[in-house]
Amino acid sequence: MKPPEHGMVSSRARDRMVREQLQDQGIDDLRVLAVMRETLRHLFVEEALASRAYGDENLPIGDGQTLSQPYTVARMSQALRLSGREEILEIGTGSGYQTAILAKLCHKVYTIERLPTLADTARKRLRRLGFHNVVCRQGDGSLGWPEERLFERIIITAGTPITPESLLRQLAPNGLLVAPEGSRSAQTLVRIARLADGAIQRETLEPCCFVPLVGAQGWQEASP
Ligand code: SAH
Repeated sequence: MKPPEHGMVSSRARDRMVREQLQDQGIDDLRVLAVMRETLRHLFVEEALASRAYGDENLPIGDGQTLSQPYTVARMSQALRLSGREEILEIGTGSGYQTAILAKLCHKVYTIERLPTLADTARKRLRRLGFHNVVCRQGDGSLGWPEERLFERIIITAGTPITPESLLRQLAPNGLLVAPEGSRSAQTLVRIARLADGAIQRETLEPCCFVPLVGAQGWQEASP
């Protein structure tokens, strides 16, 4: 007997992931739910992990880094309140899965990854999957995007002691930034709004857990 086609298995797994891990946990942005349902998450991890791609867990992506559980990706995407027209800066490309979700929800994503192997793999993967509205860079994203410019949205997908000043400076008026702030082992998701008059407003969302943002304005590599 032929095994069930992988596409079918993954389609059922994605429906279930969206229902149980996202809708039942309070994710209600219909665009976020739709792109999480259609995006093939198993293509963003190594083949040996493909069968776990739709489970409620973080997955290793190499170099000691992790792809966040589906709920966290959805929660951060929803927190950014995207209409489809925005240009987003993402710090921490990792596997490129969150990048792919954002690319379907906004106009253009600028993403930066510190580790060269991950940056290279994600760039090739996103190109192969046909994402033409993503610009990938390798470097220290805690210093912001290398060119001086503003972004309507910024997302940090690594835990930071405090949101780097260089990133706040690149947040446009009426812009939103979402980041996990806290210790190396546990953080709180915060949303920072830059108001039209330039003032900053902070809001605490919920507890979360990310690998550290390592860089000049993040954690030092070797610190405990
Ligand atoms: N969003 C990713 C997972 C993020 S894991 C995904 O969907 O797969 C956090 C990533 O941030 C890791 O790949 C890590 O190497 C990267 N990172 C840590 N510090 C960084 C920095 N200063 N600049 C850019 N990327 C950084």
